[in-house]
Amino acid sequence: MIMDDSVSIVWFRRDLRLDDHPALHEALSRGNQIIPLFIWDPDYEKPWIPGTASRSWLMQSLQCLDQELKMKGSRLIFRQGSTLNVLHDIIASSRAKTILWHRRHEPAVAARDKSTIQHLLQKRVNVRILNGSLLRDPDSIRKENGDPYRVFTAYWNAHRRMEPHRAPLPSLPSHLPSVDSRVYSDTIEADIFSMPSPTPPFEIHGFTPGEAGALRALDTFSSEWADQYDTSRDRPDLPGTSRLSPHLAWGEISPVRIWHTMEQVSRMVPASSGINTFLREIGWREFAYHLLTHFPDTPELPLRGEFRHFPWQKKPEAYEKWKSGDTGFPIVDAGMRELLHSGWMHNRVRMLTASFLVKNLGISWSEGAQWFWDRLYDADLANNTLGWQWTAGCGADAAPFFRIFNPVIQGQKFDPAGKYVRRWVPDLSAYPQRFIHTPWLASGMEKPYTDRIVSLIESRQRALNDFQSLSSQ
Ligand SMILES: Cc1cc2nc3c(=O)[nH]c(=O)nc-3n(C[C@H](O)[C@H](O)[C@H](O)COP(=O)(O)OP(=O)(O)OC[C@H]3O[C@@H](n4cnc5c(N)ncnc54)[C@H](O)[C@@H]3O)c2cc1C
Repeated sequence: MIMDDSVSIVWFRRDLRLDDHPALHEALSRGNQIIPLFIWDPDYEKPWIPGTASRSWLMQSLQCLDQELKMKGSRLIFRQGSTLNVLHDIIASSRAKTILWHRRHEPAVAARDKSTIQHLLQKRVNVRILNGSLLRDPDSIRKENGDPYRVFTAYWNAHRRMEPHRAPLPSLPSHLPSVDSRVYSDTIEADIFSMPSPTPPFEIHGFTPGEAGALRALDTFSSEWADQYDTSRDRPDLPGTSRLSPHLAWGEISPVRIWHTMEQVSRMVPASSGINTFLREIGWREFAYHLLTHFPDTPELPLRGEFRHFPWQKKPEAYEKWKSGDTGFPIVDAGMRELLHSGWMHNRVRMLTASFLVKNLGISWSEGAQWFWDRLYDADLANNTLGWQWTAGCGADAAPFFRIFNPVIQGQKFDPAGKYVRRWVPDLSAYPQRFIHTPWLASGMEKPYTDRIVSLIESRQRALNDFQSLSSQ
């Protein structure tokens, strides 16, 4: 095959944006013709194929990316099928000599990338792999003895001591080279929902998928909430967090762009500790990827080996009630219904619903992680694994197992007027405020609220006993 030095493929994956996109930028700086490509290949993603919510987000995000490219005179080539077959076909039809993409860190995808690279090199295609989704590559930070970090603060201090990471890349030109009309594209909508199994798409409310939506979310957060993030971030009844997570999970905005914008804002409000706390959360995301890269078994197995023998229980009925938000505990039910109906959940509520599943119900963190994976727009293997193992006490720098959230106290503290609960559990709307987190104490209600599926006192004791049995093994 004769290859054309002037044609490059930019393989888009979880980086669905044009702004601050190192691979695209490098392809352009070579003065090349560019084929922007996305491949929908569920087998390449196994065992963590994007779930129902993520696929709904992905479809809209790809349509936005295609629109953005079209506004610049290019277009997105969307193909479904086996990655290698698609790459061969596109290389043959475009005669591209170079392919560029951003590194992914999900262990199975990273392993497939390695063999894809070998394959392409054998075919004499140049391959360029860049970091486009993190502030720093997870390999670039290690302890002095070469081991990876397991404690966030030590990791983050090391991260902050290093040379500043790069600044955002300059804006793209208003016009991109057009794609040869012979390069074929499938239709975006049909394929994502038919493969690997037919799935009805979610209707997305409260978020705007795509790069423009991501930049708007950053703008709203940085101008309205960032300086009070310290206190507002724990309140599910307030819009006090950035809601950037699905945009970050799909790479519609880069962490470098977020960092840079927040630094600019902090120059205007220098005393704001809210901004530092927010940047630390971006640091937790970096730490999650550090852990996923260096402990690649953790999506399936607890990082702390002793938890492999934990006596988790199989309780299909209780699991279903947890999933549908029918546990009888208002803040748990509100969180689970928020997840079910909106594809997102507030961080404080993620922590307490996860704690309820793992500790009060005694069900394994991995069952919870799978449900979140299916229902979250922001399902992200690194963050989801870290969040679940942190809550279950079996991961790096995790909350100790004996820290068991009490959903009544959590509700009273973080949703004091019950606004969040009333929004997601309308069956409680008639309850007076003083009983909103303890509806079982209210008497004379026309329609009593769902019975509690577990006793908080007894289940707490059972969880502590299970943990004790583990420590004495
Ligand atoms: C059980 C459990 C499961 C979780 N699953 C996911 C998941 O699949 N995907 C996901 O993106 N986050 C997950 N998180 C982390 C966190 O809940 C969400 O990132 C956050 O709620 C997203 O809302 P936001 O964008 O408004 O966050 P903000 O508070 O505005 O934070 C900004 C960004 O920082 C990052 N971040 C914030 N908190 C954390 C954290 N604790 N760990 C890692 N990164 C963080 C996220 O990328 C987030 O978008 C999980 C947490 C728990 C406890």
